[in-house]
Amino acid sequence: MSPFVFPGIATRVVFGHGTLARTGDEVARLGRSRALLLTTRSQAEAGAALADRMGETVVGTFGDAAMHTPVEVTDRAIRAYQGAGADCVVSLGGGSTIGLGKAIATRTGCDHVAIPTTYAGSEMTDILGETTDGEKTTRRDPSIRPETVIYDVDLTLGLPVDLSVKSALNAAAHAVEALYAPDGNPVTSLMSLEALRAIRDTLPKLREAPEDKAIRGRLLYGAWLCSTALGYVAMSLHHKLAHVVGGSFDMPHADTHAILLPHTAGFNAKGTDLLGPVAEMFGGSVGGGLWDLAQASGAPTRLADLGLSEADLDRAADIALKNRYENPRPFDREDIRRLLQAAWEGTRPA
Ligand code: NAD
Repeated sequence: MSPFVFPGIATRVVFGHGTLARTGDEVARLGRSRALLLTTRSQAEAGAALADRMGETVVGTFGDAAMHTPVEVTDRAIRAYQGAGADCVVSLGGGSTIGLGKAIATRTGCDHVAIPTTYAGSEMTDILGETTDGEKTTRRDPSIRPETVIYDVDLTLGLPVDLSVKSALNAAAHAVEALYAPDGNPVTSLMSLEALRAIRDTLPKLREAPEDKAIRGRLLYGAWLCSTALGYVAMSLHHKLAHVVGGSFDMPHADTHAILLPHTAGFNAKGTDLLGPVAEMFGGSVGGGLWDLAQASGAPTRLADLGLSEADLDRAADIALKNRYENPRPFDREDIRRLLQAAWEGTRPA
């Protein structure tokens, strides 16, 4: 047995169907009584319904959460927080809204109750990515973690299938990289394998039965495990490449993760035994199996379809080599360029 450090899991989690109704109690449990409720514009209605339900516990709403947590939006939200005399934030939405909740909570020191409605997995992590004038910076600190996360499967029943599939593959990428993370531990590995099994078993069935509560429940359970694992380990090639392609070329976050995952995972599987159980789970080939899962679930498989040009691949490969980080398999520019070409063309990894 290799030595390891298990840091514990700091966040309180409430998981189930209809758990949204417990939001007021969870705020009170933290000793708070005046919440600012956060959403994006497209989820404003769901926010208004929750505010209604929570009555006087919600003292204000802010419905302008945006992708990549622009600091300008955070500044406005903090003015709304102070203006309302709030003592905590409740974020209802995907990674963008939860990112805003984290940004407010780290600046004001307030408590944060996160209610995720996608599978992207920001809610359990100590990671905050923010943008100033289009430039993205990411930092990690335990204080960034929400105090409480409420998972309500019912909130995911209406998440559009295309978004659901990409979002779940985004989550799967956290689990894959957690398996070979230099600071991983047996608990994050158990969670990651269980998560990948849950995603493998449910994702291809989603299009046929998007409102099936059992399928949605298992998927959200998998997403929780992925997010938890991501929150306690360092990420490698896959996340760095997704960051480069998404950030430098303004590609959509979840699509980029979904397309790159079979290629990055397939590449790294040739450099570590730690993905052996994933190969077993996916018919003998990590890259091929994940690509088949994406294909069977109707996920995008070609970077070319996102509008990335072939010439961009050279620049992406250059940027990707600028910062060094631990990865289970060493690589050079040619490896990365080849990997990007395959993801651009959408070929099935061997
Ligand atoms: P998102 O939060 O931007 O949501 C996409 C759109 O879908 C939004 O308009 C949202 O309002 C809508 N939506 C969300 N849930 C819905 C539902 N159930 N029904 C209908 N519409 C719904 O997208 P995302 O993929 O959840 O998050 C992406 C962002 O999260 C990125 O900025 C990424 O960097 C960040 N992220 C951060 C971490 C972290 O640990 N810090 C982890 C994963 C993702």
